[in-house]
Amino acid sequence: MSTAPTNLIGLSGPEITSVLEETGLDAKAARMRARQLNNWVNVHGASDFGVMTNLAKDFRSGLAETFTVARPEIVTQQISEDGTRKWLLRTAPGIEFETVFIPDEDRGTLCVSSQVGCTLNCRFCHTGTQKLVRNLTPYEIVSQVMVARDALGDWPSTGANRKVTNVVMMGMGEPLYNFENVKAALALVQDGDGLALSRRRITLSTAGVVPMIKRAGDEIGSMLAISLHAARDEIRDVIVPINKKYPIAELMTAVREYPGVSNARRVTFEYVMLKGVNDSLADAKALVKLIAGVPAKINLIPFNAWPGAPYECSDWEQIEKFAEYVNNAGYASPVRTPRGRDIMAACGQLKSESVKERASTRMAELRSAELQRMPH
Ligand code: SAH
Repeated sequence: MSTAPTNLIGLSGPEITSVLEETGLDAKAARMRARQLNNWVNVHGASDFGVMTNLAKDFRSGLAETFTVARPEIVTQQISEDGTRKWLLRTAPGIEFETVFIPDEDRGTLCVSSQVGCTLNCRFCHTGTQKLVRNLTPYEIVSQVMVARDALGDWPSTGANRKVTNVVMMGMGEPLYNFENVKAALALVQDGDGLALSRRRITLSTAGVVPMIKRAGDEIGSMLAISLHAARDEIRDVIVPINKKYPIAELMTAVREYPGVSNARRVTFEYVMLKGVNDSLADAKALVKLIAGVPAKINLIPFNAWPGAPYECSDWEQIEKFAEYVNNAGYASPVRTPRGRDIMAACGQLKSESVKERASTRMAELRSAELQRMPH
């Protein structure tokens, strides 16, 4: 029986070593080859074994029989008038997910998805209208970075003028509901001998999976963003329903205890401006009171509409008043200019056509994916 080749993207150095050992290399040779392969894949962005010229030709063709470094299929690539780019990627029938690159003067931010669909059902979020299809694998998460950097000509990872300078886990899905895969993927993104982005340039955003927040700090160590959106439980219960499970007081305790928070490493609170829902001056006051003492910045996000959305964006004047109050209280509160709205790439607009398959089909597919990942 022929099995699909193992993709080396998404594997750590030790994992590459062990799949090489499975092909018959001794431990020492496997370690050396793993170092070379890791360098080709994650530093130089090689997408084919042919370019790996410091490996013997025979060895390369042997590798190509068992392994691959292929990217996901790019279903569509869209470029916004403001330069934002969005890719829809596919790794299997029905497994489609989006990734968005947002260029700014001083940085280039890649917004990465962690799940196909989402379980959270935040009322204002388009992805929330799509049922969870499944968690993305480390390969599927890391390859979003690969695809973007390929398209931007952003190799090698040691280059001086890098295009993707920041990664935010703010695409489709709730990263803390896919903890192990997100952790594995972000370890690769941070690896100094690989994709080499400092963990200060990686932000993980959560709607508030309270029990996982401390672990995220200890084991991933990225910057933390919280999708707060309301400072009172009555409102947050409605717009961010996970609040009924983990209310604001518990969320704030977890934030205050997040390892490494300081003035130099602030927590970001995301706050979507919904007209007549959470945008009054009383809401601004409640917000300032709630976060008192937390080194924080507030990202005010004008609501991005999508077809059928039940809310409207707050009036500009109201957003300014809100921002002014929060600013005067001593918190940086930039109003995030919506980016890529014309290609539905802005916050909360991501959604793929993937639908949940019958559980039996899904299990069979997961099983075969797992078998493929096993060394052989
Ligand atoms: N599940 C994680 C990761 C998604 S991040 C989280 O909730 O943090 C995506 C960000 O965009 C979140 O802050 C989300 O609340 C916000 N968002 C969702 N829909 C939006 C919309 N329509 N307009 C503006 N922001 C939105």
